[in-house]
Amino acid sequence: MSQVDVSPDEEQAAPAFSPTDAAVLVERLRSAYATGRTRPLAWRQQQLAALRRMLVEREGELVVALGEDLGRAPFEAWAADLRATVREIEDLQRHLPRWAGPERQKVPLLFRPGRAEVIPEPLGVVLVIAPWNYPVQLLVSPVAAALAAGNAVVCKPSEVAPATSAVLARLIPEYLDTSAVAVVEGGVPETTALLDQRWDHILYTGNGSVGRIVAAAAAKHLTPVTLELGGKSPAIVTRDANIKLAASRVAFSKFLNAGQTCVASDHVYVHRDVEEEFLDALTAEIAQRYGSDPRSSKDFGRMINPGHTERLQNLLDGVGYDVVCGGEVDVEKRYVAPTVLRNVSRDSAVMGEEIFGPVLPVLTFDDLSEVTGAISTGDKPLALYLFTASERTVEQVVSTTSSGGICVNDAISHLLVSSLPFGGVGESGYGSYHGRWGFETFSHRKAVFRRPSWLVDAPLLNPPYSRWKRALTRRLF
Ligand code: NAD
Repeated sequence: MSQVDVSPDEEQAAPAFSPTDAAVLVERLRSAYATGRTRPLAWRQQQLAALRRMLVEREGELVVALGEDLGRAPFEAWAADLRATVREIEDLQRHLPRWAGPERQKVPLLFRPGRAEVIPEPLGVVLVIAPWNYPVQLLVSPVAAALAAGNAVVCKPSEVAPATSAVLARLIPEYLDTSAVAVVEGGVPETTALLDQRWDHILYTGNGSVGRIVAAAAAKHLTPVTLELGGKSPAIVTRDANIKLAASRVAFSKFLNAGQTCVASDHVYVHRDVEEEFLDALTAEIAQRYGSDPRSSKDFGRMINPGHTERLQNLLDGVGYDVVCGGEVDVEKRYVAPTVLRNVSRDSAVMGEEIFGPVLPVLTFDDLSEVTGAISTGDKPLALYLFTASERTVEQVVSTTSSGGICVNDAISHLLVSSLPFGGVGESGYGSYHGRWGFETFSHRKAVFRRPSWLVDAPLLNPPYSRWKRALTRRLF
């Protein structure tokens, strides 16, 4: 098990985890993979069971680490990071025997007798690079999918959530088969050393700039990549929407984990006629959840670090909006108040990049096509939320916009429906996982066609192409 703790001093002196270390690690896992130990279903199920046990038995340590890194309320840390991941693992455990089995396919007349099957096979040794915002879920879920598919895995937690990274690096080797699973801690130098290696798949979750670095490194080895990126995911509230429901679900998606959620409602488009009602409902939701002083609420999280808090402070530069509620920022305490903005100019700083914090711009529209037009011409979002009572509006938005996923009259819950793929499109990434989709991502679908050895050779496609062969083949083929 490679486990590297990087202190800033060590990082300065020499990378604690050098390209040579990375090469040795991958070689070791490749040798283990080559023995076939990761392929049997029993091994895969053992690893999944162990991963599940780790999350249940060590809940306390993980919740404390999540609290340290993100100021998370223990219940929120359990629900969003641990329980969601346990559910994902249980889904893999339940369906694995069926998903891993061969799938019979039809055989054309000309090639009978014969048996055609698609057999999922593991890809080999794969790399999972995780971000800091849901540092357990976004590392363990893809690792579970990779193990379910029978791969050896190296995973790299985010150095930006150091407490959680340290706990994961300690626990994973305690529970999983260390000959085929390794954790590497560290930041850019360590990830760069890993990316120099040849992998059989890389799943990266994080921002698009690093996504491009990952894709470029992978291209050198023709390694397939899944990029789980972010962006500005909008919510739309139409005139006929259930306003109270919309305000509640938008508030949930935006203020969970202090807005540091890839599928948070980045901003809201609300029909002008119901703007006032929506803003009233939204501010009431915030007050009900976090009280009159959210800073003292135990249930409201903190920004990951002062740098990200300052980023939010800069976005709130005071230009191009009015503050409905919130607006306070305390960089040292990593606190940004739940903030709602109105009269937001489309050129303002908050509309220029993914907010990734508890600041919610509310924009108005008169005609839905203005909004669908803006979404269609901009970067494709990871998620799109629509609040409406009209089926026609649902059809219109579903058929005229593109996004990783769309959730109607709710927000974020589409991620928990494990039969649905989770992934982006365009700027929000490519590829997907969750449930079967994760198993597929880390598998190769091998075409296997078997014919009996007693077959009488009918050389219809062999030269010389006589008249009778041509005629018969044209009829059969
Ligand atoms: P981050 O800073 O933790 O980076 C993610 C990973 O990339 C880390 O493991 C880090 O070590 C590595 N990394 C950073 N710089 C690198 C470099 N130069 N070369 C190689 N590796 C490097 O996380 P982040 O990017 O700040 O995460 C936030 C972003 O991720 C947001 O845009 C968010 O929307 C997105 N996100 C997407 C999903 C999803 O599932 N689609 C989930 C969470 C976050």
